[in-house]
Amino acid sequence: MTGWQALRGLVDGELRLPGDPGFAETGSPVNRRFAAVRPAAVLSAAHAGDVALAVEWARTESVPLAVRGGGHSYAGYCVSTGLVLDLRNLAGIRFDPDTGQVTVGGGTPMRALYAALRPYDVTFPLGNSDTVGIGGLTLGGGVTTISRAHGLTCDALVSTDVVLADGTRVTASAREHPDLFWACQGGGGGNFGVNTGFTFRTRPAPAGSTCLALWSWPHAVDVLATMQEIMLTAPDGFSARIGIARSSNGADGGDSAVSVVGHHLGPSAELRELMAPAFAIAAPGRADIEDRDFWAAATYLHHSSAGGAFAVRTRCTPHEIDDAGLTTLVRAVDKWPGSGNPDGAGAALFAWGGAISRVPVADTAFPHRDTRFLLSLDTSWTEADPPETVRANLEWLHALHAATGEFAPDAAYVNFTDPDLEGWQRAYYGPNAGRLAEVKRRYDPDRFFTFPQAV
Ligand SMILES: Cc1cc2nc3c(=O)[nH]c(=O)nc-3n(C[C@H](O)[C@H](O)[C@H](O)COP(=O)(O)OP(=O)(O)OC[C@H]3O[C@@H](n4cnc5c(N)ncnc54)[C@H](O)[C@@H]3O)c2cc1C
Repeated sequence: MTGWQALRGLVDGELRLPGDPGFAETGSPVNRRFAAVRPAAVLSAAHAGDVALAVEWARTESVPLAVRGGGHSYAGYCVSTGLVLDLRNLAGIRFDPDTGQVTVGGGTPMRALYAALRPYDVTFPLGNSDTVGIGGLTLGGGVTTISRAHGLTCDALVSTDVVLADGTRVTASAREHPDLFWACQGGGGGNFGVNTGFTFRTRPAPAGSTCLALWSWPHAVDVLATMQEIMLTAPDGFSARIGIARSSNGADGGDSAVSVVGHHLGPSAELRELMAPAFAIAAPGRADIEDRDFWAAATYLHHSSAGGAFAVRTRCTPHEIDDAGLTTLVRAVDKWPGSGNPDGAGAALFAWGGAISRVPVADTAFPHRDTRFLLSLDTSWTEADPPETVRANLEWLHALHAATGEFAPDAAYVNFTDPDLEGWQRAYYGPNAGRLAEVKRRYDPDRFFTFPQAV
């Protein structure tokens, strides 16, 4: 009997080998940059017991194991050439109206969470993509459009069920295994065990308003500068993604856009007032501001992508970027080398702060409590693009990332995982890096859970 047959006999979930139906769908990373990484097998765990058996089996057989939730790791850490443990069948959702807490399976996608919580009109900070998994989002922190008011996804965590490296199952909370619980609040997915379930506290879903505003390219620096000023004094209920982007579409072969996507937990009249200084720079080509209940806002703010391959690099900055820095960003995006991916490339400032900043930095593993803006730099291409295009895009991104070191610190968001980041321990985890390493030594002393940026 081969090792794979033995594993198949142990578990209730489906084990797929290359060529089996569903193999590609369950074992591929979303980011096609890492499409060449082909697993030896994929186990879609049916329940937490399967996860424990798979961990024990992989350990005994010395087979490397990668944990796959929603599969969105920007660095492709949800796959490996060994066994991929697919958690997407661990997707049960149970809401308890008495406690206001919701318990969800470790592979639950955002779409299912929104659908399950809507009838109760309660929520907690959830991402804006249908298919991002709750595991990756929570374990890396989880910053969403309501986070300035309600905190991070990991701040809403009450407890989590974890299969440890030796196959034992524990529940971690503020009272039980508090160090492990602390590490699961922003210490990054895949590091300390396999989280088979999570319990979160919810709050009533807040109604509000949304905004999408677009300006022409010559206004880029002024809009970025003014929006930063607005966000530095904005109420916690207002969050915004301030972006400049270039794509290969358009009649002249290239399209550039300056955009603000905003979510305000207050009426549209207030949102219009908040945005007034930006609208005073120049009339936007488009400005949609509307009242929406929480669920309509979530649908409106939903992120869609052309897919393909992409790379993202980030810097977390505790202050705004000055005009010289903003000019660097705009000039670089203007010179994007191009690719066949309609998602193009760009730079975005996500406004953080508010409730995120009110949690002391040592209370959870997520360290970026003083960040006011997450600067995210991205580019994309397709699998059909020639190697020179891929090279040019990555060189462009690395040069821009290096240039931004002049005005933003070497601090990065682990959930926008950057496989090219040097000094990632410090950049992702700041002052919490040392304690995370201790938790790793205690809960996974042999480093069974490993990948290029494993704690
Ligand atoms: C379209 C899109 C929208 C996004 N929106 C947001 C957003 O609004 N806010 C935000 O903060 N981030 C956002 N992100 C980033 C996202 O949070 C991360 O990419 C996240 O890690 C993805 O989790 P996943 O489970 O989908 O991916 P995976 O690749 O499956 O997992 C990511 C990492 O976590 C590990 N992991 C996953 N689940 C578990 C588990 N249950 N137990 C142990 N380890 C696990 C994996 O091994 C891997 O290392 C977005 C990403 C995309 C692509």
